[in-house]
Amino acid sequence: MKTIGLIGGMSWESSLEYYRIINELVKEKRGGLHSAKSLMYSVDFEEIEKYQSEGNWEKAGEVLAQAAKDLENGGAEFIVLCTNTMHKVANHIEETVKIPLLHIAEATAEKIIEKGIKTIGLLGTKYTMEQDFYKGRLVGKYGLNVIVPEKEEIEIINRIIFDELVLGIIKEESKNEYKAIMEKLVEKGAEGIILGCTEIGLLIKQKDTTIPLFDTTYIHALKAVEVALD
Ligand code: GLU
Repeated sequence: MKTIGLIGGMSWESSLEYYRIINELVKEKRGGLHSAKSLMYSVDFEEIEKYQSEGNWEKAGEVLAQAAKDLENGGAEFIVLCTNTMHKVANHIEETVKIPLLHIAEATAEKIIEKGIKTIGLLGTKYTMEQDFYKGRLVGKYGLNVIVPEKEEIEIINRIIFDELVLGIIKEESKNEYKAIMEKLVEKGAEGIILGCTEIGLLIKQKDTTIPLFDTTYIHALKAVEVALD
């Protein structure tokens, strides 16, 4: 079994999910007392969010690249960056360490293609929905059509992530706002929705909707387990 290197803390609410899912899947696949070999470097999210909102991606990239280096030195055999947004600086990590980074958008795209879906809705932070680092990979590398919400809906989705989900606050009214925005994406042609922020799965579950959901936390954690046990 390979040792997984997790970069967490963005937020720790979703890092907990990664840790739980990874260990549950290893137990399911290997049985007995098996659990995942892993290291987690958990950052201070206040610091990272400050760099995000200042647009200081260079500095954020340096912090995460150093975390990846420390994980590599500690014996990690590949890196799992437990956030969609911070894949904006995936190249900083890839340039700094020799071990591979399992890209969250790529793991997700593979699952979407497997289901035969061509047009997909994307929810995430405003950075993930508006900028090209994430959508661009889905479109350019996998030929998917990606639909994002309207400007004011992006603000709602983003506010709920930063004011509630990363703080572990789960509200029924926020779930309903997400569901309404998801329905609109379906009306525009989305055949499924990417929960492209690792906390959204805390709010919306597949049982809440008939729209096929692609929960990036689960998909990324599953990919990590497949690679670790390969
Ligand atoms: N966990 C989130 C994501 O998957 C948002 C927090 C962050 O900005 O890193 O994008």
